[in-house]
Amino acid sequence: MKIGIDLGTANILVYVKGKGVVLNEPSVVAISEDDNRLVAVGEEAREMIGRTPGNVRAIRPMRDGVIADYLITEAMLKYVLNKVARVRLFKPEVMISVPSGVTSVEKRAVRDAALKAGAKDAYLIEEPLAAAIGANVPISGPSGNMIIDIGGGTSEIAVIALGGIVVSTSLRVGGNRFDDAIANYIRRKYNLMIGDRTAEDVKIQIGSALPLDEPLKMEVKGRDMIAGLPRTIPITSTEITEAIEQPLQAIITAVRTVLEQTPPELSSDIIDKGMVMTGGGALLRNLDKLLTQVTGIPCHVAENALNSVAVGTGMALEHFGTYRKSLVGHS
Ligand code: ADP
Ligand code: MG
Repeated sequence: MKIGIDLGTANILVYVKGKGVVLNEPSVVAISEDDNRLVAVGEEAREMIGRTPGNVRAIRPMRDGVIADYLITEAMLKYVLNKVARVRLFKPEVMISVPSGVTSVEKRAVRDAALKAGAKDAYLIEEPLAAAIGANVPISGPSGNMIIDIGGGTSEIAVIALGGIVVSTSLRVGGNRFDDAIANYIRRKYNLMIGDRTAEDVKIQIGSALPLDEPLKMEVKGRDMIAGLPRTIPITSTEITEAIEQPLQAIITAVRTVLEQTPPELSSDIIDKGMVMTGGGALLRNLDKLLTQVTGIPCHVAENALNSVAVGTGMALEHFGTYRKSLVGHS
């Protein structure tokens, strides 16, 4: 059995050959503080965030794109492997994506965690390469391609040619930063405290990277900081565009930096083909338009933006020979 795993900061996805994406759960683990016992993983654990009794703690082990806790990562991998395969009978081969910036120590730790979790073999692939493969960007040819993956905790921007990363950057700005910016804005402007889930909800429902001709509106519930009581306020997409200006600027700056470092021959390929955006953050309204405006290069959102990395890890394993030189530690 061959399994591709996207170990994302927000979501963990598993791709199985012939079946597609068979598991998609938040990368959250709930731990009991008393005895360090694992209480829940995935969706069940996420539901505990912000609502857990004192002795249960919900952890996002991949929070900033770095593995904060190896044992927890191993437990999470064990959980997903057991859910998709009868690991004890047939040990699967797994391909796991890792952020392009991780150290060799971290890479070894991810591989070890996968082996301990029951994998027969574990290979690693850098996230931008997996994203590109999964988004059907032809990475093996000599022509340059640019890929922007915007996840929950991190964004990765890379120029790829001949199956490898030529220029890349990884920043700790992703969807979570947008949520934080929205919560801060609403707190400052309306003295209203809102939760992380609410902030994310606002972003998805009415958020836009550019002002909309016909602004969207929604009601937001939170706790009034002065009266201390629940309160509901109306909010518009125009306000959200203003609220998320800083994280948007950070992404624009990083995209510009990568373009500036790109060798001219590859730049000219990218001008012709445009850049491809993947990850959940890519779905923010008009982010593609904004990037097109500020760079002058057409930006497209991949059709399977949320699944690109997972599909890419699976395809890299299926076509091991083709992508061998793109794998970490196999060059
Ligand atoms: P990761 O790879 O880090 O696990 P994902 O690629 O799964 O992250 O993306 C998760 C992020 O995408 C979250 O911050 C989530 O709020 C955001 N997201 C998902 N759907 C949308 C949407 N429609 N609009 C804006 N952001 C979205
Ligand atoms: Mg991701």
